[in-house]
Amino acid sequence: MTSWVDLKSKYEISWCPGCTNFGILTAFLQAIEELIKDGKINKEDVVVTSGIGCAGKIGDYVNVSSFIGLHGRALPLGIGIKLGNPKLKVIVFQGDGDTYNEGLEHFISACKENPDVTLIVHNNKVFALTTGQHTFTTEPGYKSKSLGREVFEKPLNPMALALVSGATFVARGYSLWTDHLKYIIKEAILHRGFSFIDVIQPCITFHNTRNYYESRMYKLEDIGYNPTNFKEALEKAIEWDYTLREDSKIPVGIFYRSERVSLEDGLNTKEWYKINKDMNIRKLLSELLV
Ligand code: SF4
Repeated sequence: MTSWVDLKSKYEISWCPGCTNFGILTAFLQAIEELIKDGKINKEDVVVTSGIGCAGKIGDYVNVSSFIGLHGRALPLGIGIKLGNPKLKVIVFQGDGDTYNEGLEHFISACKENPDVTLIVHNNKVFALTTGQHTFTTEPGYKSKSLGREVFEKPLNPMALALVSGATFVARGYSLWTDHLKYIIKEAILHRGFSFIDVIQPCITFHNTRNYYESRMYKLEDIGYNPTNFKEALEKAIEWDYTLREDSKIPVGIFYRSERVSLEDGLNTKEWYKINKDMNIRKLLSELLV
């Protein structure tokens, strides 16, 4: 029987002591453990891709197949792996800089095309590994080293963007509510189509917003929220505007889920996979090269 502790690699973890990324790692490993125990997934089929930054390091810390890609490009990498072998369960980890700055077009494209891939975003509202420069979700008033002034621009709202771009599973979690995050991750992995989780992950070293969030968050399940209505999901998505206003209330949980054809099914990639698997590539290449 696989325990979540065995699903952690032996590499030394280099996140800062007390970093909230540990909560995401634990929630993810426990989610995988439970899905394996319940016979819903096989460990051999799980593939993790990650980008660059503190979030990207998670690819080293999981004892499953993993691939650390370029900044902002872990999502298309994961989609490519899924298209190559549709049997795999692909989970992509990126930071907010990765996803909403460098890789924004990939994010919108995934929402629209609906590949059966899960994207987990560690959103600490800064480029943390490079010591706290602002990103597209940084709130006004934050002093960014790369700007030499305070941010005054409006932050991007990734929840609303995902919804209007066509995402079929949209959720927000909190890195230190690990049981709740584990539940969301399990639902996201089992969802057929693109599943997106924006995880609030305060960077305790460069942008410590823990107290702000913990006094304002509430769980959608606690108010009997039903995530099947698009308009209600959009209302929930704009309830918090990613600023640090005093009067904010921040919902976490599953905002929206719906069904439509996935990218793999639309392209019939199972058939490609069968053809590729049966094909003797070495023989084919030798014939082509003579
Ligand atoms: Fe965590 Fe911030 Fe340290 Fe990165 S810099 S490991 S996000 S606390």
